[in-house]
Amino acid sequence: MEKQTLAFQAEVQQILHLVTHSLYSNKEIFLRELVSNASDACDKLRFEALDNNALYEDAPNLEVRVWFDAEAKTLTIRDNGIGMSADEAVAHLGTIAKSGTREFMSKLQGDQKKDANLIGQFGVGFYSGFIVADRITVESRRAGLPADQGVRWSSDGSGQFEVETINRPERGTDVILHLRDEESEFLSTWRLKSIIGKYSDHISLPILMKKEEWDAEEKKQVVKDEWETVNKAAALWARSKSDVTDAEYQEFYKQISYDTEAPLAYTHNRVEGRSEYTQLLYVPAKAPFDLWNRDKRGGVKLYVKRVFIMDDAEALMPVYLRFVKGVIDSADLPLNVSRELLQESRDVKAIREGSTKRVLSMLEDVAENQKDKYASFWNEFGAVLKEGVGEDHANQERLVKLLRFASTQADEGVSFADYIGRMKEGQESIYYITADSLAGAKSSPQLEIFRKKGIEVLLLTDRVDEWMLSHLYEVEGKPLQSVAKGAVDLGKLQDDEEKKQAEEAAEAFKPVLEKLKTALKDRAKDVRSTSRLVDSPACIVVEEGDMSAHLARMLKQAGQQAPKTQPILEVNPSHALVKRLEADESHFDDLANLLFDQAWLAEGGQLESPADHVQRVTRLLTA
Ligand code: ADP
Repeated sequence: MEKQTLAFQAEVQQILHLVTHSLYSNKEIFLRELVSNASDACDKLRFEALDNNALYEDAPNLEVRVWFDAEAKTLTIRDNGIGMSADEAVAHLGTIAKSGTREFMSKLQGDQKKDANLIGQFGVGFYSGFIVADRITVESRRAGLPADQGVRWSSDGSGQFEVETINRPERGTDVILHLRDEESEFLSTWRLKSIIGKYSDHISLPILMKKEEWDAEEKKQVVKDEWETVNKAAALWARSKSDVTDAEYQEFYKQISYDTEAPLAYTHNRVEGRSEYTQLLYVPAKAPFDLWNRDKRGGVKLYVKRVFIMDDAEALMPVYLRFVKGVIDSADLPLNVSRELLQESRDVKAIREGSTKRVLSMLEDVAENQKDKYASFWNEFGAVLKEGVGEDHANQERLVKLLRFASTQADEGVSFADYIGRMKEGQESIYYITADSLAGAKSSPQLEIFRKKGIEVLLLTDRVDEWMLSHLYEVEGKPLQSVAKGAVDLGKLQDDEEKKQAEEAAEAFKPVLEKLKTALKDRAKDVRSTSRLVDSPACIVVEEGDMSAHLARMLKQAGQQAPKTQPILEVNPSHALVKRLEADESHFDDLANLLFDQAWLAEGGQLESPADHVQRVTRLLTA
């Protein structure tokens, strides 16, 4: 072919303009794009050679080389992949063959930010070279064609390009960027290496650069005529499971997580179907120091065809799984996908859903088969997982099964299934109590009747518990019932005789109750007699819809406003202290307030006026 000058398709010119203007703020991505093209070209050769081994010619080792000429101000990216014929160069580098381009063009609005996002969807690829170059020359020969059928393609990106046939013994493609004067930062081994390390470490073929060494005589770094591989050249996740050893999985985890400890568990899968991707996900053994920072990102990295795109964990993992580390490598997302797009993309949503399910399966497996390990996981991350109960309705049922609690029967590890399995005949609800600490929960007077009847109560002491329970009303048809809220209704758990006794006691106690209400009218919303207490004289409860005292305290600690609700005081008519109320008219007021103080303290609360309390006790003791 004689040298010809051809015009770019109109759309190419538009795209060129947009690419160079919109993507300039992140110009280093041109190298990622060109290395990715080089890697694709090698993949294509590998594929075609499956049927025709001769295509490898005498160069069976596929590789990418990157070098620069500081004087000529050129940067070259060479691959020995499939290459292009002259026709292919014209077609692939002069037109945009992809379907949907016209539609794409019609969406452009001349708003650079939005347009840059749109461009991302289409993958700008080759044209991104023009961000830093004022001329690009491509020299190529397609695998299988003779040396005299090489092609040179060249353009300054302004509307036209030239093509001609050349003699080219090497198979594959050189992309030669003539860098603009102001882009000489890319004429640096160090700079190029760091870009390759950032984006292309996991390209599975070697990327070679010339070695640079300190020259003592010349007193400067000099580029040697010796090549070295500058990327890791091993996408571990792209290998098949059976080829990767446990030690390799662990080593890779340490590389990506900077964690010195081995992971607790991992899962590696290739997902096929509507969207195609590979996932390699790890659960660490220990919680990081910043586990509670919900804005943190960086746990899961997104790759597209082994090219690093970003580590925007939130698009890939729900917040409550922020401790998960790993890699997701999509086969069908565009390379230039932006963060905004990531959040909207249906493909990404599908990946996120699939990956969430994977992590849950992995945890279910550990919970089922390695109980000790799961207990240790639960200690580290349980409280974070609880956030999911409120946030991820689609997976709520599975998450609920993964929850573990302390209870009046065991200090840890109680699942809802365990609890339900131990429910008493006639027990309809799952009972729980929330408190600041396990010791506090255990000593709650509200538990007394449950202890006496041998009914298990879950003891919830995590900060998120109250919040979680506001999203969870029942488990397997059994309502969750706080033992510190509302009137206690043991339903069928109380026999008729007990009910009758309780009613009689309450009836006889009525006159005292009325006096108590008057004495405590500024402190308690109501005073009532109860059969939930055995050893304690009184306890504090809140009304069904009201905020628990525990949660109100937590909010206060966090500097937030908690609604001021008065509690209800429940008293045990058969307790000796309560009986004294009836007998000792002269100290009724002091006794009534003392009863309230005690119940309040037992609940974990602080007295508004400790001085009043001390005086009260002194008066009673000296009476
Ligand atoms: P994309 O890679 O998304 O298809 P590009 O604009 O980067 O878009 O490239 C357009 C086409 O040019 C590619 O599809 C490919 O056919 C061809 N091409 C680009 N770089 C190379 C290369 N290094 N070797 C062979 N073909 C290439």
